[in-house]
Amino acid sequence: MTRAPVPKPYILGIHAYVPGKATGEDGRALIKLSANENPLGTSAAALDSLISAREAHDNGAAAYPDPDSKALRSALAKLHGLDVDRIVCGTGSDELLNLAAQGFAGSGDEVLFSRNSFAVYDIAARRCGAIPIEADDTDFTADVDSILAAVTERTRVVFLANPNNPTGTWISPDAVNRLHASLRDDILLVIDEAYGEYCDPANQRVGFDLANAHDNVLVTRTFSKIYGLAAERVGWATGAPGLIDVLNRIRGPFNVTASGQRAALTALGDQDFVAASRAHNTAERARFVEALSALGNHGLSCVPSEANFVLVRFDGDVSAASALSALAEAGYAVRHLQVDDLANCLRITIGKADDMARVTATLRQLCGETE
Ligand SMILES: *Cc1c(COP(=O)(O)O)cnc(C)c1O
Repeated sequence: MTRAPVPKPYILGIHAYVPGKATGEDGRALIKLSANENPLGTSAAALDSLISAREAHDNGAAAYPDPDSKALRSALAKLHGLDVDRIVCGTGSDELLNLAAQGFAGSGDEVLFSRNSFAVYDIAARRCGAIPIEADDTDFTADVDSILAAVTERTRVVFLANPNNPTGTWISPDAVNRLHASLRDDILLVIDEAYGEYCDPANQRVGFDLANAHDNVLVTRTFSKIYGLAAERVGWATGAPGLIDVLNRIRGPFNVTASGQRAALTALGDQDFVAASRAHNTAERARFVEALSALGNHGLSCVPSEANFVLVRFDGDVSAASALSALAEAGYAVRHLQVDDLANCLRITIGKADDMARVTATLRQLCGETE
């Protein structure tokens, strides 16, 4: 009789995260507008720092990195006006989102988030044996009242992606403050600001201000999106010392590579690149949304986005599946999310101007609007 290790049933309940594709059905390489990467690439200085990293280490790559990412945390604290002891870095913000769930929720506990939100929250909840709970959204936007109505005695963690992936929608600082003010103090509110830097700078501080003032708010940010360093896997979180202490106990001891710390530190110093990336995104997103509004009579519409991608709905004669194929044929990979609510939607990352023009032309042609 053969026996095999028995996985935990709650682990088998996880659907592994499906990353954005870079190839078509036939394996052909496509231009990737499917993973919300920065189309301008990476700050030149940050790239140089990666290249010169070889010379900086007299023993090659044999030494462990700084376990506490001290220089990077100090630079983050300085840039954002935060306390360095209230910052922890992670292997992407993905590590920190998982640790936040694991640190504060377990078997029988509930982890709450909005419907049509980031796929990692469901995985983070199940990984620690907790129960993922989805609150209904409204117009693809987190609904504060519906999140509050879904809170129970067993709720331990609430995740809010702001702006949200995959819908691109955003809730105002007033709405975020109201959500926090109405939550019990023993519930951890995790505000995932992976796309925070794409927002109007006037609205970028709500998470930090809450995290500074309260013991139950953790804000996560990443170098994967506007900083163009997704390959290096660097994220960070800020919150009360008690929260940071918990994450430090359970994170990987050397969770950010030496090259990652170095590149992130240099990228942080190049705020011109960040500003240029934000300006590029704002302009190209507006142009794309405007062009697609002319296809409204074919059922196409854009969900309002504050991020570096747009969720396009196909509610007429042209289906999302046919648009996905036409775009692949034209050389572009976009994201068709495998969830019921979004079956007739495509999430399209805002790319370079000429790529967005070609995407627009492809969709126009598919709608029979050749001129
Ligand atoms: C891309 C993304 C992240 C970032 O993940 P990293 O692990 O930092 O690369 C986090 N949250 C959301 C909502 C995202 O879309």
